[in-house]
Amino acid sequence: MLTDLQVAIFGGDARQLEVIRKLAEQGANLVLVGFDQLDHGFTGASKMDIGEVDFSKLDVIILPVNGSGPNGEIDTIFSNKRIILTAEHLKRTPKHCHLYSGITNAYLDKIVSQSGKGHTQLFDRDDVAIYNSIPTVEGTLMMVIQNTDTTIHNSNTVVLGFGRVGMSVARAFDALGANVKVGARKPEHLARISEMGFIPFHLDHLQKEVTNTDVCINTIPFQIVTSGVISKMPTQTLIIDLASKPGGTDFKYAEKRGIKALLAPGLPGIVAPKTAGQILGNVLSQLIGEQMSTRKGKV
Ligand code: NAP
Repeated sequence: MLTDLQVAIFGGDARQLEVIRKLAEQGANLVLVGFDQLDHGFTGASKMDIGEVDFSKLDVIILPVNGSGPNGEIDTIFSNKRIILTAEHLKRTPKHCHLYSGITNAYLDKIVSQSGKGHTQLFDRDDVAIYNSIPTVEGTLMMVIQNTDTTIHNSNTVVLGFGRVGMSVARAFDALGANVKVGARKPEHLARISEMGFIPFHLDHLQKEVTNTDVCINTIPFQIVTSGVISKMPTQTLIIDLASKPGGTDFKYAEKRGIKALLAPGLPGIVAPKTAGQILGNVLSQLIGEQMSTRKGKV
């Protein structure tokens, strides 16, 4: 149980509702910032503007999955108010106050380090990233179906990257009968791609490998689908870029060539917010509980 713990939840999408539900069930006292348009009330939770929050009482701060925008803006679908989290806010929290987000960025790293607080990125954990890859794959299938007039079955599908998302995407497209090629750079990844029955290729040969692609799914958070690569693709190719913003595709060049390229962030929150929120809520309640026990042990 998380009784007596003061937890502030800043913005987010529908996934946060499951996080709120889980932590409320565990008895935490919740401060909800960026939820003024949410009709639903939760026991033990109070909605506030950021200016009303007493940061000196917070044990935990939970940010949206993307952390923040590049200047500290907190995304929220439940409010039109502008919310900016600053180092000054964090400096007012108790020494033990800990932040959680899905991923991080340079701004967040800076204010966390300036304030000397702890910060956990949930998607650094393999278990969270692997569970989260399930709704990500379902969202990818949805986007491909919506944006093509051919079946996935028999399509030439290229997956770039063979991490937690890339592996799940390759497996799902293969199961639907696509001809799946996967690009990676590590010999052990190339070996595993081959073992799983997909066609492996080294990313050094990417330009050569995309000449008959129907669907290209990028999971590499690095400029990889460059103008040189796009120029070798057939014009009917659909590019779905799953990598975190700004993605790994030269979108301007794709548009110039008439190739449809879509950046598709936050798919779990769009296609399965309940499941995706439960994944986050379960791990957060476990981590916060551990944090609380460690702190009590030290007192
Ligand atoms: P991951 O397990 O770290 O996998 C990343 C893959 O990219 C690995 O195969 C890695 O290869 C490769 N890679 C990274 N930098 C590279 C570079 N410079 N050159 C070549 N290959 C490189 O990450 P993940 O969990 O699969 O997530 C992948 C991306 O999807 C992340 O940006 C994540 O934020 C995003 N994501 C998006 C959604 C969505 O809804 N769109 C959902 C979940 C995750 P090496 O092992 O060789 O480094």
